[in-house]
Amino acid sequence: MASLLAFCAVESSALAHGAAIVNDVTQINPIVVDRVLAPTTIGEIVNAVRSHRGPVSIGGGRFSQGGQTAIERALQIDMRQFDDVVAFSKERKEITVQSGITWRKIQEYIDPHDLSVQIMQTYANFTVGGSLSVNVHGRYVGQGPLVLSVRSIRIVLADGTLVEASPTKNSEIFYGAIGGYGAMGVIVEATLGLTDDVRVERRSLIMPVSAYRGFFSENIRDNSDVIFHNADIYPGAFDTVRATSYLKTEKPVTVESRLMPEDKGYWVDRMAFRIISEWPGGRAFRQHVLDPIVFRGERVEWRNYEASYDVRELEPVTRRTSTYALQEYFVPLDRFEEFVRAMAEILNRHEVNTINVSIRHAMQDPGTLLAWAKTEVFAFVLYYKQGTTGADREAVGVWTRELIDAATALGGAYYLPYQIHATERQFRAAYPHADAFFALKAKLDPTNKFRNKLWDAYCKRGSVCPPTRPVAKASIQQVPPIAPRIATAVQSVPGYKRDEVQTYLTLPEWLLVYYPGDYARFLKNRPASGFPYFGSIGQFWSCYWDTYRATRGKYPFNWGYHVMVLVIGSSYTVENGIKGAYENTVGRLTEWLAGHAITQEDALAADVAQDYVDFIRVEPWYEFSFIRALKQLWAETDLFGPGLLRKWERKLSLSAEYLVKAQYAMLIKIASKAAYGDAETETLALAGNVTTGALEGEAKVKVLERFEDGSVLLSLPRYEEFRDTLQRLVGKGVQLREIAGNDEILMTSVVPATWNYDLTAGSVLFEKPVLTDPRHKRLAVLAPVQSLHRILIELADREFEVEHIYDY
Ligand SMILES: Cc1cc2nc3c(=O)[nH]c(=O)nc-3n(C[C@H](O)[C@H](O)[C@H](O)COP(=O)(O)OP(=O)(O)OC[C@H]3O[C@@H](n4cnc5c(N)ncnc54)[C@H](O)[C@@H]3O)c2cc1C
Repeated sequence: MASLLAFCAVESSALAHGAAIVNDVTQINPIVVDRVLAPTTIGEIVNAVRSHRGPVSIGGGRFSQGGQTAIERALQIDMRQFDDVVAFSKERKEITVQSGITWRKIQEYIDPHDLSVQIMQTYANFTVGGSLSVNVHGRYVGQGPLVLSVRSIRIVLADGTLVEASPTKNSEIFYGAIGGYGAMGVIVEATLGLTDDVRVERRSLIMPVSAYRGFFSENIRDNSDVIFHNADIYPGAFDTVRATSYLKTEKPVTVESRLMPEDKGYWVDRMAFRIISEWPGGRAFRQHVLDPIVFRGERVEWRNYEASYDVRELEPVTRRTSTYALQEYFVPLDRFEEFVRAMAEILNRHEVNTINVSIRHAMQDPGTLLAWAKTEVFAFVLYYKQGTTGADREAVGVWTRELIDAATALGGAYYLPYQIHATERQFRAAYPHADAFFALKAKLDPTNKFRNKLWDAYCKRGSVCPPTRPVAKASIQQVPPIAPRIATAVQSVPGYKRDEVQTYLTLPEWLLVYYPGDYARFLKNRPASGFPYFGSIGQFWSCYWDTYRATRGKYPFNWGYHVMVLVIGSSYTVENGIKGAYENTVGRLTEWLAGHAITQEDALAADVAQDYVDFIRVEPWYEFSFIRALKQLWAETDLFGPGLLRKWERKLSLSAEYLVKAQYAMLIKIASKAAYGDAETETLALAGNVTTGALEGEAKVKVLERFEDGSVLLSLPRYEEFRDTLQRLVGKGVQLREIAGNDEILMTSVVPATWNYDLTAGSVLFEKPVLTDPRHKRLAVLAPVQSLHRILIELADREFEVEHIYDY
């Protein structure tokens, strides 16, 4: 039994060869990309961009918080090792750097020359490329968006060309790429202006919010002695601010270090954030006890010291059940009070766990297409804590959209590096030059190669954006029959022929990858007791029965595989049967006793379910560490708290589940290593109309043989990549004639429940409702290989995703 299970495990292990999970600092946006490349030369970046056919996304420090650095199935170019200083001139106060460099590394380089970065964020961990693409700002008085300090950039465009851009040369690209969130290309180098490192003295004042604007215009705005300035509004009443400035001084420093020590411990800071965000009276404690201590006495330090904060000071022990997050809003100066009123009302009404709102100031943007400083503005940086479940995120979306409306109604904007909650209407209201931006993108990146979650949200097909889907509306032509001589020749190629019945028999196996995905999605915002455990058992067997019926009598009976499916199906049945019975009795009772509140343990279980799904798309399931999940359960959830009975019931039931699974996984791991070698990694196919252009950039597609009638024997990657590669090839006009010696292949697609199959080829083997989402159904289609291109194109035209093509 173990070896049969192991067989299944090996099969599943190869689902997504080379894939990786990219996440950001909040840990709530995991994205499975096909591959991550960490280049160290411009040549590597040019080659990757030029040769990669699928989507390309770009990662800097990964501190943006809504998937701005990745998209599913992309090649992610991780810039963090591309981080050298290219040129430096002390006289011109100028530095040229590779874009993966962090501010901190630049500071270490220029500090001995008594120079300082002109504009950057409060923290020094961000990369220059990520900062340019967001067009960030800091607390610098008389400055504004980062673009104001940029002399030029070099960028690799979608066709692999390397272009220099500045306010006077290729200025269209300069103003599109800065603030362009990686849409136009990979910024590889930047030349930035520097300024003198000076000693600064801190002054801090408390005042009513109503007095702040006057104070700012009289004392700060035009005062060239003020280097840094910001004002914190105390949340709750939102009527008091602490305005803190750092002024140039000749006094000796009271802080000796020129840069923030890298080995500084931050437990006090972290504890303070925890008290403020979680303890009753935490905010008042900050305002009346903590801050008066922090801001007491004279403090003189170097500008570089004040500019080299480390985000580690904010990092909580865990981000599993809750996470700190940021948002930012910008309004013209004279709308300050109106926005504060609206913001306070929204945050209080929604009981947002607001930790701080920091006010900053920025001069008008000189012309970037996605300028957030459309005029001179006050910025409101909102730091808050939120839960990580789906329901929590939806709740955040609601108040975020209200804040966005409040800012745009005043002629302002919201900031784009954070969670993507804005509707398209809101995005366009905040960024009125979006059309010009997308038009430039369409010109520079006509196949929409540079993608990420942000641009997939707002750069819609049908608007000025280029198409995003892999299959283009290629002409649908008839495929000529294969000449008998060629048919015989390919059949004898070693490894070509696979049993056609396998296209059916592998389907039930894959269901056991999709169902955990449904389960994880379900747990994000619904209680565990509501999951259709018995329904999914029934559906598994019903799908198996459909595939069995379709193969019965048509193919020889594959005993080994049927027994394997029976074994994995039985273990799925046992697991879900036990869980279903338990959740519908004990689970429901404790849920009810806890007043249907989500406990920390429920949230953790939802996270573990998602981690598991992300994991099995990339690795064999038995490698998943259930023991780590068990440790997290006991380390990251409190022993006491609301819904105590539910808490402990979950602790014990989840512990039992993780322990049993850990033992089982260990057994399968041992058995699979002993019983099976590596799974095959390629599928051979005979195709027509294979042009040179069609194969360009398809690194994993090999031409094995060309025949006189134009047919080509191709080697294609297997599993998920098989689907993606076929979609791309078909989009470029390639037509399949035979796959692995077979003329029929099964595929599944998740489509709207109301859609009736009306494609011009293929027949429906079964359709089953997605039990956790009644608006959709899963459709299994039997496709004649020679019509596969037609079916893929027609599905893409309807914008339906192909879930899988079962390559035997
Ligand atoms: C704790 C904290 C404090 C912050 N404080 C501030 C602040 O004071 N002021 C402020 O303005 N913002 C602030 N931010 C937001 C922050 O500046 C942005 O998230 C910024 O993008 C982070 O830089 P990064 O290197 O992590 O970029 P990433 O998050 O890695 O990337 C951001 C975007 O840039 C693109 N990109 C990255 N590198 C390149 C490249 N070489 N070429 C083309 N595109 C690229 C990515 O695709 C992505 O779309 C803060 C964020 C956090 C988490």
